[in-house]
Amino acid sequence: MSDRTGIGYDSHVFADGRPLILGGVEVPEAERGLDGYSDADALTHAIMDALLGAAGLGDIGVHFPDDDERFRDANSIELLDEVRGMVLDRGFGIAAVDSTVLCEAPRLGPHRDRMRETLANALGVEAARVNVKFGTNEGMGWVGRGEGVAAMAVATLERR
Ligand code: MG
Repeated sequence: MSDRTGIGYDSHVFADGRPLILGGVEVPEAERGLDGYSDADALTHAIMDALLGAAGLGDIGVHFPDDDERFRDANSIELLDEVRGMVLDRGFGIAAVDSTVLCEAPRLGPHRDRMRETLANALGVEAARVNVKFGTNEGMGWVGRGEGVAAMAVATLERR
């Protein structure tokens, strides 16, 4: 009755002339970034959806519609901070967030610690409560062909 779990998923297509931003961290060695209305931070978007899901608050599209000028090129970490506020207002604390990013290239491991710290800071929790995992799709499908990035997340909330 007290703990709640939510899942989130997001994907964005690669596009030239954009920075690659994941978990609020720019990945400078990426040749291309992700296309989207906001900064296209698929990892942060998946985590937002997981948190909203766990709190029974719908999804990211309900709160941050992509036809709203306020969210053009939005910094997704600022939106995550807003989601944290909604979750806390509902009487929940954030117990844990786990996530997986599927990206064929570049390798993201060197940026893991900064992503965890950036996400945890926005969520108001210690970095140990936020996990970020990376994988490729072994060359298969659209992720394997390097067409885009997919991200999944699970959030656990505890009633305060
Ligand atoms: Mg998105």
